[in-house]
Amino acid sequence: MKAEDSDVVVIGGGIVGMALAAFLAEAGRDVMLVDRGEGGGSTANAGSLHVQMQSRFMQLYPENVPGMERQLPLYPKATRFWQALETRLGADFELKKNGGLMVAENRQQLDFLHVKAERERKLGLSVDVLERDALERIAPYFGPAVVGAEICHDEGKLNPLRANAALRAHALAEGVRLREGCAVTGLAREADGYRVALSDAGAVRCATLVIAAAEGTGKLAAMLGFTIPTRAEPLHMNITEAAAPMIGHLIQHADRMITLKQFATGQIVIGGGWPADIAEGRGVPRTRLDSMIANVTLASHIVPAVSPLRIIRTWAGINTSVDGKGVLGPVTTHPGLYIAVPGDAGYTLGPLSARLVCDTILGLDPGEDLSDYSPMRFA
Ligand SMILES: Cc1cc2nc3c(=O)[nH]c(=O)nc-3n(C[C@H](O)[C@H](O)[C@H](O)COP(=O)(O)OP(=O)(O)OC[C@H]3O[C@@H](n4cnc5c(N)ncnc54)[C@H](O)[C@@H]3O)c2cc1C
Repeated sequence: MKAEDSDVVVIGGGIVGMALAAFLAEAGRDVMLVDRGEGGGSTANAGSLHVQMQSRFMQLYPENVPGMERQLPLYPKATRFWQALETRLGADFELKKNGGLMVAENRQQLDFLHVKAERERKLGLSVDVLERDALERIAPYFGPAVVGAEICHDEGKLNPLRANAALRAHALAEGVRLREGCAVTGLAREADGYRVALSDAGAVRCATLVIAAAEGTGKLAAMLGFTIPTRAEPLHMNITEAAAPMIGHLIQHADRMITLKQFATGQIVIGGGWPADIAEGRGVPRTRLDSMIANVTLASHIVPAVSPLRIIRTWAGINTSVDGKGVLGPVTTHPGLYIAVPGDAGYTLGPLSARLVCDTILGLDPGEDLSDYSPMRFA
């Protein structure tokens, strides 16, 4: 079959691929975005804008901590980038930067937060550790179990449903050609670019190929003969019915898995790393009752006002991890090929990661040294 042509093909229509396609189209490039339409992390995520190091990742992957620390200065920039994007698109993402609290339930956890905060301050973050009295003045909703918290002033939250929809509309308005419900089944290098084979039996030829396919990136990279060790991590999420406004901050825990925040519409979103399953056959994520019970029990324990609220929906999504750092930039052995995988808390990092890779493709100075994030570290 004769292949269609496109200057650029972006594989993956999550926050990274969609933003990248839109930014490239703004610069006048002819862009086709291909997505298999199963929904990735960006449609499942909880809308937390993370900045401080997440204790969950530190405990799960201690070997990744040096990589996380190196990437840390990108996070406050990423939240500012989100704010600027909301303004530039004239959209309302319900974005609020009220700060994020990582709570402790005992002296040992509070000591851990002191050490963590000290490291983070040296890396340029704006953080403080609050004992119970000071915490109560800004967050009176915590139960008696909470003895203190680290506050990171740059953290916040947004409504990902609104942000994703606004970005998609913007990409379409800029002329991005969306090919949704279509998986990439084959990639081949040609004399002057790449041939992308699609599950609808079509194919596209392009000079520039960007793989922004999150956990799918490893398989796609293997089709071109190189390694990106992406790992899929299925996660469970819960949301309550709407309640009167009470929680302004993003909440996490120093030692246990939770994120908790209240949307502008009153619902409380509860997640933070509780596992989901992968359904046999189709490979889609599936919620777990034990995760739901443990997650909402912990939420009620630290914020008792959550306990009378009904859970109105649960869902599961696939998160992607690599080695604690993003994988951003050119594959130097393959001219015209770029990788865009954002790293931990990838929704927070998504639009900024897209901008950095977009500038590299356009031959502009991205304003960051991307050598730490190079895909070539796995060569
Ligand atoms: C439940 C959950 C909650 C989360 N909460 C937060 C949060 O609050 N804050 C935060 O910062 N991060 C959060 N994350 C992480 C965050 O959502 C992801 O890191 C981020 O969305 C990744 O964006 P992405 O564009 O790289 O990938 P994705 O959004 O996963 O998109 C990748 C896309 O690639 C497509 N694709 C893959 N392979 C192929 C193929 N062969 N052919 C065609 N298409 C393909 C998929 O269909 C998918 O749409 C959460 C993740 C999960 C799972």
